[in-house]
Amino acid sequence: MALKSEQKDSCTIIVLGEANVGKTSLINRFRNDQFQEQLLTTLGLDCTTKDIILKSGKKAVMKIYDTAGQERYRTITKSYYQKANGILLIYSVKDRDSFMRISDWIAEIREKAKEDVLVFLIGNKCDEENRREVTKKQGEDLSKKYNIPFYESSAKLDINVKNVFQELAEEAINK
Ligand code: GDP
Ligand code: MG
Repeated sequence: MALKSEQKDSCTIIVLGEANVGKTSLINRFRNDQFQEQLLTTLGLDCTTKDIILKSGKKAVMKIYDTAGQERYRTITKSYYQKANGILLIYSVKDRDSFMRISDWIAEIREKAKEDVLVFLIGNKCDEENRREVTKKQGEDLSKKYNIPFYESSAKLDINVKNVFQELAEEAINK
């Protein structure tokens, strides 16, 4: 008699934002607990999975997609957006342009993603205090405008990485 395998919850997360804001680095920190000063730009849409344990004690699996260069060409397809239960939308606190582009990303998410997708706004590279071009208050104000959660993170120093991925997965699965 075959044992029924334990059904695992799952969710799919996509990580968006301008090139160079640290999307791949955040995934690498979460997935492998590593950080590299120089990352090679990979081509194609990279997908990794990670097993997590929910607050309830249940096991779940997270699928995480990295746009891996495609964000440069604005060619992210609707079918790619449609996979997502959750989106981490990233800018860099030391790159004002990446922050100014967030409203365009939100518009694209509204156009292409599922209506009930969860979005978290993330200001990455918060370790670079002396090269900051976007204040924490500006990030907070923007997140309030769109009514989405906001965190400042550092893939480099491991600040608000694991807990943010975990929280997004938790909310996406419990929805
Ligand atoms: P992506 O294009 O959005 O995937 O960005 P990458 O992950 O390739 O990172 C771009 C550059 O920013 C790399 O040189 C990283 O080492 C650097 N970087 C990424 N995250 C951080 C961070 O939290 N702090 C600092 N200081 N640098 C970071
Ligand atoms: Mg990348």
